[in-house]
Amino acid sequence: MNLFDSHAHFDLKKITERGVAEMLERAWSRGLVGIIAIAGSTEPGDFGPTFELVGNDPRLWVATGIHPHTASAASPSQLEKLRFALDRERVVALGEIGLDYHYNHSSPAEQRAAFIRQIRMAHDARLPVIIHTREADRDTIAILRDEGADEIGGVIHCFSSTEELASQALELGFYLSFSGIVTFPKAREIQQVAAQTPDDRLLAETDTPFLSPVPLRGRVNEPANVFHVVEKLGQLKQRSTEEMAELTMQNTRRCFGLPETEE
Ligand SMILES: [Zn+2]
Ligand SMILES: [Zn+2]
Repeated sequence: MNLFDSHAHFDLKKITERGVAEMLERAWSRGLVGIIAIAGSTEPGDFGPTFELVGNDPRLWVATGIHPHTASAASPSQLEKLRFALDRERVVALGEIGLDYHYNHSSPAEQRAAFIRQIRMAHDARLPVIIHTREADRDTIAILRDEGADEIGGVIHCFSSTEELASQALELGFYLSFSGIVTFPKAREIQQVAAQTPDDRLLAETDTPFLSPVPLRGRVNEPANVFHVVEKLGQLKQRSTEEMAELTMQNTRRCFGLPETEE
């Protein structure tokens, strides 16, 4: 089976260095062929650890950006560091970026400013964007539209919103990535959105170390568990887990412009 985890964090305090090595071993032994590692989402401007981890492993790719939680730290010098990081090898997207009005760790105005600046940077770097949006759908879509994000494309990661957001994002040419949330019994609307998403726009992710899928809820999540997300997506789309794995793997490669096969 060809599984691809389109979104995992390895630079958070929940995970130790040894833990990461073991996670990756389990991932490769359970059929993963690729993982996109998100760098620098908690320590703004500190993009180092994930790049070290990824090294030259052809199965690991990097996305880097300033998360809405830390948008208040998006100073000109941090943005300059980010611009530099985007030029590094194995960077395939700018993200995760966006708006999170649930926590408001940074003010909405700071979040919007950092979001807009980073979309412009993605245009310059010709990279797709990975979008985090929570309780901010209207502003997220308005900014994506105003900033011509349809020209760079990208993905709404950890999709956990309404059909309305889904259809607007699909209209902009974006992909929708589903996490362990889609396996939760109460996530009816999200399951419905997944069932209706066109085959060629669906991605799967773990958002490691968060959001462990059923039947592993409450544990530290890891890329190998993307299997459970893919299995659920398969049930919703009436496809086998193998078919769904192949589909989401191909979509991930297309979304981020990755080569077809790795040697
Ligand atoms: Zn996120
Ligand atoms: Zn994330």
